[in-house]
Amino acid sequence: MTVPTLSINLATIRKQWGLREAVEACARHGIRAIDPWRDQVAAYGVQDSARVIKDHGMQVTGYCRGGMFPALDQARRDAAIEDNRRAIDEATALGADCLVLVVGGLPEGSRDIGGARQMVADGLSAILPHARACKLPLAIEPLHPMYAADRSCINTLAQALDLADAFGEGVGVAIDVYHVWWDPDLAQQIARAGAHKQILAYHICDWLVPTKDLLLDRGMMGDGVINLKQIGAMITQARYTGPHEVEIFSNDWWAKPGDEVLATCLERFRQVI
Ligand code: ZN
Repeated sequence: MTVPTLSINLATIRKQWGLREAVEACARHGIRAIDPWRDQVAAYGVQDSARVIKDHGMQVTGYCRGGMFPALDQARRDAAIEDNRRAIDEATALGADCLVLVVGGLPEGSRDIGGARQMVADGLSAILPHARACKLPLAIEPLHPMYAADRSCINTLAQALDLADAFGEGVGVAIDVYHVWWDPDLAQQIARAGAHKQILAYHICDWLVPTKDLLLDRGMMGDGVINLKQIGAMITQARYTGPHEVEIFSNDWWAKPGDEVLATCLERFRQVI
């Protein structure tokens, strides 16, 4: 069995460093894979980002993020589709393994979640030809149901896989433990995703009790209630062999020195995975 390696989602150290410094810091800690965010890449420039990533021999385990398809009117939905096409181009320039999609929630003032889900399917359908032409897989990331209104109306792995199945080639899922750990159907759905080679990324962190902020209080692996060993075993059994990507949005961890954060990520990764 191959031992999984670590990737750092650069949101984890976004308050400490810009893209270049973050890549250099990861390299310094012996980390060979990252997942940058669009704003970080935009601030440093796409070509310069691609160069510094290549110079350090970094695998790009994903690019965060595309999606946010639902909107009140056609003009805004079209604008979202155009923006996703640009995200595909950037991800391709960076050599990313996939574009992570947080699909979007309800348009402002809407109570029609079914309609929002249809807009997601329509948006995916509109960008998929370009993604396929770029040979860039699209990874639908189901988000915890607490984000259904404002971030993602795709809330379970089963739902994400149903959507991926409907589109076929070039669409898979990003499995983030923060969003799916509670799901009684998790083992079965991870096995299902593995059987069809649909797992494009695996994100790890922990769920703190209590959670002080629903967005910015993710825990470091080992500090919360997620059984990371158990879910990690499901992922391995599903034949996902890519790096495990640490993704922690946390006011607490953002307040610490970046080198301490990375050292802790590595140490916990060895302990709890
Ligand atoms: Zn994630």
